[in-house]
Amino acid sequence: MHRCVLLKHGEVVLKGRNRGRFEEVLRRNLRAALEGAGPVRIRTGRSVTVVSGDAPVEELVERVRRVPGFNLVQPAVSVPRDPEAVAEAAVGLLRERGPVAGGFAVRARRRHKDFPLDSARLAALVGARVRRELGLPVDLTSPAVEVAVEVDRREVYVSVERLPGEGGLPVGTGGRAVALLSGGYDSPVAAHRAMRRGLRCDFVHFTGAPYTGPASAYKAYALVRELTRHQPGARLYVVPLGTAQRALATAGAGRYQVVAQRRLMVRTAAELARRTGAGALVTGDSLGQVASQTLSNIATVDEASPLPVLRPLLGWDKTEIMAEAERIGTAAVSRLSDEDCCSLLLPPRVATGSTPGRLARVERRIDVDQTVEELLERAQVMYPGRKDGGAGRGGAAVCGTAAGTARQDDGAPEAGEDPSPAVA
Ligand code: ATP
Ligand code: MG
Repeated sequence: MHRCVLLKHGEVVLKGRNRGRFEEVLRRNLRAALEGAGPVRIRTGRSVTVVSGDAPVEELVERVRRVPGFNLVQPAVSVPRDPEAVAEAAVGLLRERGPVAGGFAVRARRRHKDFPLDSARLAALVGARVRRELGLPVDLTSPAVEVAVEVDRREVYVSVERLPGEGGLPVGTGGRAVALLSGGYDSPVAAHRAMRRGLRCDFVHFTGAPYTGPASAYKAYALVRELTRHQPGARLYVVPLGTAQRALATAGAGRYQVVAQRRLMVRTAAELARRTGAGALVTGDSLGQVASQTLSNIATVDEASPLPVLRPLLGWDKTEIMAEAERIGTAAVSRLSDEDCCSLLLPPRVATGSTPGRLARVERRIDVDQTVEELLERAQVMYPGRKDGGAGRGGAAVCGTAAGTARQDDGAPEAGEDPSPAVA
């Protein structure tokens, strides 16, 4: 009897001819999530992946349940293809689980039909043994506990617990994006939503440097580390925006200061995306949440971006976003205080309405293309997912500038994806 975890594939099973590629990426992401958990074995079947290893099954479950692409996570045991061994495993697992407040049901299915008993007989045999040894009543309509028995080609899996998986699609099967990451609650949740639909993300964070300290960059670093536990090789670009913010203020942005900054952010992020081969931007905007997120201001910001700006949280309320931030593990970092670059030079009143023309008049007074160029030259790139955080230095080590750094992922490019060129 071996402990293992069954992962039921989600939408991947719908992928027809692309299915092989999806499964390959899923497997790679799973490996990334299990890195550091000791030796593990991953077997991928048609609709289920089986993970086993030396680490306790609880640890394996904790690591794999957040990997997008799986709908269901079941701690299980695998036993030889012998009905009595199956029944014994079921009894053992139920004993371990403790008192049951109600009845039980056995659900058996055979992925491989060459088993001595059909599913109904197997379920009856296991059920009889459980009733005899544990004295539990059978309840097939609303059982308090379900014993799942799955007959595979070489073994049988038995489990008494079903946990929801992350769902979604494997990260890396939907292309690449650059996510604009502030230190708040929203943008990490937005990036997570995008990743959950298959987009592999790199991240850009703008600081108010030289007018603010490094706290917000540390937060961004910690957030990326949390977000990319299942994505090998994410990059974080940290861009000092302070001087350019000042220039916009001097150019008379006034009540449009925040929107002007946002336009500069998306322009810079889009140029970064172009240089690294990403096809979209992701932001944490939620319609009407703050003055800069009115429809009018969103449209003005979009007009500055040559790439689609994806806003996964557009229809989310703040309370929903915060609950999701808790669930995905980014809330603890978002909660920390920092000096947000947007609060620098914040006008007393932020315009709720704007037009691209109004902003263009401000932007004509600075050289926008040159500003973007300079911002990217000053950008620092970090690798928060790596053990060393970058090129051999600890913590938030910076291992190059955006303009001078070729792709340094530790993971190979995703299947079906072009290897990204150097940033410059
Ligand atoms: P968040 O909680 O993500 O900070 P917010 O509600 O504070 O969002 P804004 O500050 O208006 O909203 O920012 C809207 C979006 O713009 C953010 O979700 C993020 O995608 C992007 N953004 C804002 N500030 C920054 C920044 N300093 N660096 C990178 N992206 C930013
Ligand atoms: Mg913010």
